[in-house]
Amino acid sequence: MSVLFISDLHLSPERPEVTRAFLHFLQHRAATASALYILGDLFEAWVGDDDDGPLGLDIQRALNTLTNTGVDLYIQHGNRDFLLGKKFMSNTGAILLADEHIIDHSGHRALVMHGDTLCTDDIDYQRFRRRARHPLYKFALRLLPLKRRQKLASDWRAKSTAANSNKPSAIMDVNDGAVDAVMTKHQVNILIHGHTHRPNRHLVTKGERIVLGDWHSEGWILELKENGYSLNSFSIS
Ligand code: MN
Repeated sequence: MSVLFISDLHLSPERPEVTRAFLHFLQHRAATASALYILGDLFEAWVGDDDDGPLGLDIQRALNTLTNTGVDLYIQHGNRDFLLGKKFMSNTGAILLADEHIIDHSGHRALVMHGDTLCTDDIDYQRFRRRARHPLYKFALRLLPLKRRQKLASDWRAKSTAANSNKPSAIMDVNDGAVDAVMTKHQVNILIHGHTHRPNRHLVTKGERIVLGDWHSEGWILELKENGYSLNSFSIS
């Protein structure tokens, strides 16, 4: 058994080297795994499944090849790509997971999340999230022409970059109370998430919190085997 977890690739046409590294990872490492979990922010922006740009199409084709070889593929929404929808899932053979999902592989039970909901000290972001993720808002968003949605997404990114540059670093990390609460709620002693771009393994009150890293000059992969987890990075040139 080999189960792989990745997150925060932030794939975009501006960073083709990350896309190349991901495609290579899918063809080699992931192809020999039993399952792959992508815990959000696969794309730097995803404004709807009707986006027919070359990057989106290449990635969907590669993910579909992976699932056709028999690898189970699970995807969670991140804060950048929460409009990944049914069409993307059917094009790729992926299963969309809820924002809080329990996995169980050979008795290894864990809670997987993107992680943005754990950053409860970032009040502005949580307010934005509540609005943007409201079903009515998402419904209305999908009715906008593709070009308008692309413009909106780039405005959001610019705003969040500007706002985040003024936020103290602690505010952008997870809140310990939120971690404790969600692990208690789901009765797990392992929590796996991304989003903060602070790859590490932390001992916490309820057990262990494993944080995936983003893919930039390095890529990060968490692997679960019978004997446990290993978190590793590799260089992206
Ligand atoms: Mn994120």
